Amino acid sequence: MSRKVLVIGEARDGVLRNVTFEAIAAAKQVGSGGEVVAVICGEGDLNSLAEEMIFYGADKVKVVQHSKLKTYTSEGYSQAVTEIIEQESPEAIIMGHTAIGKDLTPKLAGRMESGLISDATNIEISGENVVFTRPIYSGKAFEKKIVTDGVLFATIRPNNIPPLEKDSSRTGEISTVDIEIDDLRTVITDVIKKAADGVDLSEAKVIIAGGRGVKSKEGFEPLEELAEVLGGAVGASRGACDADYCDYSLQIGQTGKVVTPDLYIACGISGAIQHLAGMSNSKVIVAINKDPEANIFNVADYGIVGDLFEVIPQLIEEIKQL
Ligand code: FAD
Repeated sequence: MSRKVLVIGEARDGVLRNVTFEAIAAAKQVGSGGEVVAVICGEGDLNSLAEEMIFYGADKVKVVQHSKLKTYTSEGYSQAVTEIIEQESPEAIIMGHTAIGKDLTPKLAGRMESGLISDATNIEISGENVVFTRPIYSGKAFEKKIVTDGVLFATIRPNNIPPLEKDSSRTGEISTVDIEIDDLRTVITDVIKKAADGVDLSEAKVIIAGGRGVKSKEGFEPLEELAEVLGGAVGASRGACDADYCDYSLQIGQTGKVVTPDLYIACGISGAIQHLAGMSNSKVIVAINKDPEANIFNVADYGIVGDLFEVIPQLIEEIKQL
């Protein structure tokens, strides 16, 4: 059964987030040959972003440009996307399970009196049904869900559904939609960036995470170097954040970010259940810890028992030789 699917795109600093391409791949699967329409909201020229979405599989892109959409607000974006939903009447809607996705999609689903399957990590087609897999109980179990009524609405966890290969020869319809946006009750006047530049933690393919075992702010330097050598991002346990070794924006776990990189290297992290909730679904986990009994070794694919300040420099040297 083919379906028309709407993908809500997301850009940061003028660049589409990778999860948008993953959402298009998910939409292709859900649509089973139906039309994939993408929407991108913002201010200024968004046509190059619309083109990118076509290259990654969208059939049609709706561009909503408005000064009130320069920065994300749930009020402004929900007005814009609701208009597109009314115009297009999709049978399914897919977005990334990002901070914006988590904020926007429940609001839209509520307006449409539709359900929402959030944080899906896999999609399968079974007969007429689309079966979504999502982690529950902090990643300790998985449930499978189907939608039996109304619009099929889902968010997908970044780094789980591979994007289609980019095909720069693909063409599709790009149209700009004029939308009246009511006065917003919340207006973002300025954005002050906290996190350092570099690879975005939630979409990073490689994460080097430090815990209390890193012992100080300076102790994170070898981890930063290893991340640079591997083209990855630095993350942390709450233990390290609480000790003020690094910023809370790096925290991974139950009350921090949930990540699914290809490679997660945990350095001086004991492996508390709340930390595992944020990283145990990583594809390959490497643990470096002095304590051979540390719980992190129970989830690790590779374990190195040793002092991280001796192991990491050796790793960096070896990787540089490759
Ligand atoms: P520790 O448990 O102190 O572990 C440090 C590790 O470093 C030890 O295993 C030690 O052997 C090793 N080590 C020390 N020196 C070295 C060295 N030189 N080389 C190698 N290894 C070394 N935690 C999170 O991470 N994320 C969350 O989102 C989160 N949410 C929470 C929510 C709630 C409600 C609660 C109650 C707790 C939460 N926690 C969370 C905290 C969690 O329970 C742990 O306290 C925390 O994860 C411990 O951090 P850690 O592993 O860095 O520190």
